[in-house]
Amino acid sequence: MIVRSISKVALGSKSLLEGNYALEVRLKELEKRKKIIELCLDMNSCGLNQGTSGNISAVHEGYMLITPTGIPYEKLEPHHIAKMKIVSDTNKWEGPFAPSTEWHFHRAIYKSNPDFGAIVHTHALFSTVLSISRTEIPACHYMIAAFGGNSVRCSEYATFGTEELSEKIVVAMKDRSACLMANHGMVAAGTNLDKAMWSAVELEALASQYYHAKMAGDITILPDDEIRIVIEKFKNYGLKSQPN
Ligand SMILES: [Zn+2]
Repeated sequence: MIVRSISKVALGSKSLLEGNYALEVRLKELEKRKKIIELCLDMNSCGLNQGTSGNISAVHEGYMLITPTGIPYEKLEPHHIAKMKIVSDTNKWEGPFAPSTEWHFHRAIYKSNPDFGAIVHTHALFSTVLSISRTEIPACHYMIAAFGGNSVRCSEYATFGTEELSEKIVVAMKDRSACLMANHGMVAAGTNLDKAMWSAVELEALASQYYHAKMAGDITILPDDEIRIVIEKFKNYGLKSQPN
């Protein structure tokens, strides 16, 4: 009898713990949904994106939460954010609206690098200008190291929303956390939503600096050794302006 009572208590506390855990997971998901909307509005108000051409996603418990297609950001509500399994061969999604037409490359990037927790895609002006000339950004500034190497590559062109485009992006992002997308825009990833947005803003700044420096005249590219030193410094000291 005593044993049975104890096991009942144990079972009760276990299910309570499981209940708390499930609630915590759902609250975290809601936070991410709200944050995606907040960042969509931010990227349009700061000029990083126009209209609904960009999209944002975040990883949550084996799924990605991603902006739906064609809904103006100011009308977005947390439950509108679409949800898709990351490791899946189907295009099934949950939510009242279909995911962004670019869901292919969001999922492919997460599959290619499990360290990424969020992705921002925009048609930011200078990144897009460089992508039209199919120019990679070289080590024109030490901040290039924030993207993992001595350049930010430009992917080859493929039609938007296709699996082919996602394959080309994954190639361009090998050992990098961002790339330009030929005749399209840019994509930046990070371990969380704040970091992915920080990365997108830094990439656009870098694209603008490189574009203007080329217009101004001769440019000097930093040597690979220097970029390796900067990458190590970033690892050891962190990026001061990068969110935690
Ligand atoms: Zn796009």
